[in-house]
Amino acid sequence: MAILVLGGAGYIGSHTVYELIQAGRDVVVADNLLTGFRAAVHPKARFYQADIRDRAAMDKLFQTEHIDGVIHFAASSQVGESMADPLKYYDNNLCGTTTLLRSMVAHGVDKIVFSSTAATYGEPERVPILETDRTQPTNCYGETKLAMERMMCWTSRAHGLRYVALRYFNACGAHPSGAIGEAHDPETHLIPLILQVPNGKREKISIFGDDYPTPDGTCIRDYIHVTDLAQAHILALDYLLAGGENNVFNLGNGVGFSVKEVIDVARSVTGHPIPAEVCPRRAGDPAQLVASSDKAKSVLGWKPQFADLNTIVATAWAWHKSHPNGYDR
Ligand code: UDP
Repeated sequence: MAILVLGGAGYIGSHTVYELIQAGRDVVVADNLLTGFRAAVHPKARFYQADIRDRAAMDKLFQTEHIDGVIHFAASSQVGESMADPLKYYDNNLCGTTTLLRSMVAHGVDKIVFSSTAATYGEPERVPILETDRTQPTNCYGETKLAMERMMCWTSRAHGLRYVALRYFNACGAHPSGAIGEAHDPETHLIPLILQVPNGKREKISIFGDDYPTPDGTCIRDYIHVTDLAQAHILALDYLLAGGENNVFNLGNGVGFSVKEVIDVARSVTGHPIPAEVCPRRAGDPAQLVASSDKAKSVLGWKPQFADLNTIVATAWAWHKSHPNGYDR
């Protein structure tokens, strides 16, 4: 029996495939390669170029492979783009997941772990954020992810499918081997953008606002290493395979760092002065997002291994230094 990883050529998906293979699992990857990279897929995984919106392709996959459980990363994930082109997000994230679930139900595949996000909370009522806190997304990306969670819930009631939604905070870092890492085009995330400066690809980093109600005025986020996220997916899948009920878990380190603090860590890791310039706020950014991940720790037995921000940034730097242009297409 195999595990199907949808979106397994993307950033978090490819790292999860590496951890699954390392754990001796049989892995099938499907990805439409619109934003993912064939080179990111572990050579021991069986690869299909397929889109989750393509019902015939999904049916063929479930007919060809004996799939025990699905890990679903195949979604559009840029906040800014989701505000400019919301229908792309409804199409890819919601229509895509509808087609996928229809095919899973038709083929009796009844376990799914999928990427949700801290963006489901919107402006938090308090930090650290608990899974039971109010969900009121402030952007279309978060809205579609929350709707995916609800879709799973109703599908579960009607068809007996079981799911785990993992609400990630700020995914970052790269595989400790340096084999795979983060590569987005365009890049919008803070740590890879900072590292473009010592890599000679950018003159300075922009700080989006220093007038937030935080100690140094810049936004605070909870940065979590991608390998720790990958491990959580395996634990969540094993939880479902062992009969676990539908569930939602936050995944973060429970410690917040400001934009200025992250830049300082990157200066110390790279030895580069990394000039920074304060710019206007970016629309839709909450001042502070920090997770309580106690539930993932107690229910799944999750133990992040790369909690230290210096280590996280050092793994990211090792990848970006050796792959300044990301993967070859
Ligand atoms: N940020 C910034 N400059 C940049 C990119 C991001 O100041 O060039 C800030 C952004 O406003 C947010 C934090 O860094 O407060 C993390 O942003 P990112 O896009 O990495 O993740 P998000 O929190 O939006 O998921």
